[in-house]
Amino acid sequence: MNIEHIKKVDPMVAEQIELELKRQQETIELIASENITSLAVMEAAGSVLTNKYAEGKPHKRFYNGCEHVDVIEELAQKRACELFHMDHANVQPHSGAQANMAVFVYALKIGDTILGMDLSNGGHLSHGSPVNFSGLYFNVKSYGVDENGNIDYENVRQLALEHKPKLIICGASNYSKVIDFKKFKEIADEVGALLLADIAHIAGLVVAGIHPSPAPYADFVTTTTHKSLRGPRGGIIMCKEEHAAGIDKAVFPGIQGGPLEHIVAAKAVALKEAGEPEFKTYAEQIVKNAKALAQGLLDNGMDIVGGMTENHLMTLDLRKTGKTGKDMANVLERVGITANKNTVPNDPQSPFVTSGIRLGTPAVTTRGFKEEDLRVVAEIIADAIKNSDNDAELAKIREKSLALCKKYPLYEG
Ligand SMILES: *Cc1c(COP(=O)(O)O)cnc(C)c1O
Repeated sequence: MNIEHIKKVDPMVAEQIELELKRQQETIELIASENITSLAVMEAAGSVLTNKYAEGKPHKRFYNGCEHVDVIEELAQKRACELFHMDHANVQPHSGAQANMAVFVYALKIGDTILGMDLSNGGHLSHGSPVNFSGLYFNVKSYGVDENGNIDYENVRQLALEHKPKLIICGASNYSKVIDFKKFKEIADEVGALLLADIAHIAGLVVAGIHPSPAPYADFVTTTTHKSLRGPRGGIIMCKEEHAAGIDKAVFPGIQGGPLEHIVAAKAVALKEAGEPEFKTYAEQIVKNAKALAQGLLDNGMDIVGGMTENHLMTLDLRKTGKTGKDMANVLERVGITANKNTVPNDPQSPFVTSGIRLGTPAVTTRGFKEEDLRVVAEIIADAIKNSDNDAELAKIREKSLALCKKYPLYEG
């Protein structure tokens, strides 16, 4: 990775970038929302397109000199529509939260009622959390999961009938089961609500046909591009044709100024990659790896919310160990595994402490890890949690994770 110019101009930043590269190379990345982009995606993100202002849409810009970014943005739009089978795509949202905000700005008035998944049950901040714009400016009703970690669709329906939301949001940041978009559509139709499917986490699985697509059912589909889709950090909104003009207006001038055309180009490249046959193999391996990790953890006596995962992630339930998510995520960091603490359903601990750890396999799968490696990772996790107070043991376990990292070099040469 060449950063020779940064080294000259700003050695302090260059040093941290180099250390960050080493951190990524020498740790096992199990944060379920992270991935490792290709060098092609990174080149686009680091390209001269960062210099360009391009407010507006392709061929309808407020600035001159947009002939090349127009072609690039149209490529990204076309690829998104083809991959996700949607009529229209806006590829300008700076992030997943911005994509959701634009849908809200288009579809709702302040004070309208929305029905989304509760944050502590696996939903996202932007689905109605009281500390987020979605909770501050709208009347939020939330659904959760049952003891087995499944969405209770009858409960969703009852809440919808009772509160008559204008918008129902499905999609999650921490849900290990398949989402039934058809059922959500039936509920939305029954109460006359619009349906937003936020597939930020599972977009890569949807593209590969491993998770059912919301395309036949949702009015709006939002996604991030940097999670299982393996692109640059950013967002996309897709919708039915009837909403296209309104969604575009909500993105710009509604909530954003100039689009990040270097990131739009990186999205185009990532979407090209996601359309290749190798990507389907990759996405299938993500799920195989997640199942191998889950089975390994279960075999080592650990609990997982809802048992076996059906997608790319799972939540380790630490309640019976008497240890907390916060402490154990730090212990895992000491043995070279990066993951985040997460609440479990009905968590007795606060969201800052938690009784769970979320684990996901998109990043390690990009790196080349296979099922047998994930079984080793499961052992590492179980051993580290058992030996959380034993420094000598933790140091030995760290050697095991380092050996796995060396087996799959990252960004070398
Ligand atoms: C990650 C995520 C987002 C937000 O993405 P950012 O790019 O971090 O703003 C939105 N919705 C869901 C379901 C997510 O998992």
